[in-house]
Amino acid sequence: MNEYDSSKIADLLSDTHDFSLTDIAEEADVLLLNTCSIREKAQEKVFHQLGRWKNLKKHNSKLIIGVGGCVASQEGMQIRQRANYVDIIFGPQTLHRLPNMIDAVDSRRIPIIDISFPELEKFDYLPMTRIENPTAFVSIMEGCNKYCTFCIVPYTRGEEISRPCDDILFEISHLANQGVREVNLLGQNVNAYRGITFEGKICTFSELLRLISMIDGIDRIRFTTSHPMEFTDDLIDVYKDTPKLVSFLHLPVQSGSDRILTLMKRSYTVTEYKQIIRKLQAIRPNIQISSDFIIGFPTESQQDFEKTLKLVKEINFDMSFSFIYSQRPGTPAADISDNIPIEEKKERLSILQNHINQQALQWSRRMLGTTQRLLVEGPSSKNTIELTGRTVNNRIVKFKGSINMIGTFVDVKITDVYGHTLYGVLLCNENKIAHHIAGNHA
Ligand code: SAH
Repeated sequence: MNEYDSSKIADLLSDTHDFSLTDIAEEADVLLLNTCSIREKAQEKVFHQLGRWKNLKKHNSKLIIGVGGCVASQEGMQIRQRANYVDIIFGPQTLHRLPNMIDAVDSRRIPIIDISFPELEKFDYLPMTRIENPTAFVSIMEGCNKYCTFCIVPYTRGEEISRPCDDILFEISHLANQGVREVNLLGQNVNAYRGITFEGKICTFSELLRLISMIDGIDRIRFTTSHPMEFTDDLIDVYKDTPKLVSFLHLPVQSGSDRILTLMKRSYTVTEYKQIIRKLQAIRPNIQISSDFIIGFPTESQQDFEKTLKLVKEINFDMSFSFIYSQRPGTPAADISDNIPIEEKKERLSILQNHINQQALQWSRRMLGTTQRLLVEGPSSKNTIELTGRTVNNRIVKFKGSINMIGTFVDVKITDVYGHTLYGVLLCNENKIAHHIAGNHA
């Protein structure tokens, strides 16, 4: 989400101010920090980075420093109290106002704070995505209404709001015309999507997926993140008739204990979560599932933790994200007394991560000898005749090919597995794949 926002900021300022990106802070006229406050550690990093930039301002009085994202949204004016050399404080919903904010600071040298939540306004101001890769992120909804007790997102990014359906379809068609072959639909809970159509009707997430699948040139559709709460049967049905939707799903469960899920206010039980997965497996037997886990939520007992481990094995999760619970100010869980020693939490996290890594490795090893369709993303960084592509299940595969294959689909036979990186030999390029498909239809 933050990477997406940062790329939008870069596109916008390039359009309005002809700015370009630099890796060298000393060269910059404007330094912007796009921040995340999902866990405390991420938040603390902000002030460390600002401390380093403070010195640059001593040498360049015209330098403008801005802080955006969720820490800005949460802390607002307090950022200036800790770092009074910050000129601009903007939120995730006001990043499109940056050009004006920069001009105002430049001419009047007064600090500007705008962390309001103007609904969807920003999408009318952001330029069309500039694309160099065959894959692109497309934001379809923003914010969150779920108010899970551990989570800061509803407070920093605002309530759920969906972009109009036709704006999304237009953006994706535009991307397809630029050579994009795969889209990743982005939002805090994409399956809560309820966008308005030009006829004034409501379009649900399952309807949106089917409409996107009809766009010529787009051959793979992913989405992130969805919530088990609204993973309804009509969405599961899309997996039946929409082959472009990948057989890989990131569906955060957080915990395998119903007691903890209730305390987290996740609104589903472990059984309900497993039912969703079973229904999906009935349609797509090879579907792979990944998840997020929070370890050491206040009062989590050894028994609760073992239930999480049991679920990890039962679902056979692929590569997943796991975090030690981080207390966020103002969230309901911050009031639950947290009595688990940090050493114990670390121990649980490492046990969980070991299990998941082993399972992910087994998923990779199972691919040895199989033929995989890759979307070729570019030359491998170490070797220019070696290309890298991505499988449906998000594995990077390296293989020898020619540069004109970038941005196309190829079939590769997997010959080696090293950790999470796979190696393969080219079997068939896109022309032959298309020929093969045409042949099958004849
Ligand atoms: N909307 C999605 C994910 C949102 S944030 C969902 O609700 O499932 C991404 C991940 O950060 C979460 O899935 C959760 O695992 C983690 N996270 C959020 N708040 C956290 C906290 N206070 N401590 C530790 N991890 C947290």
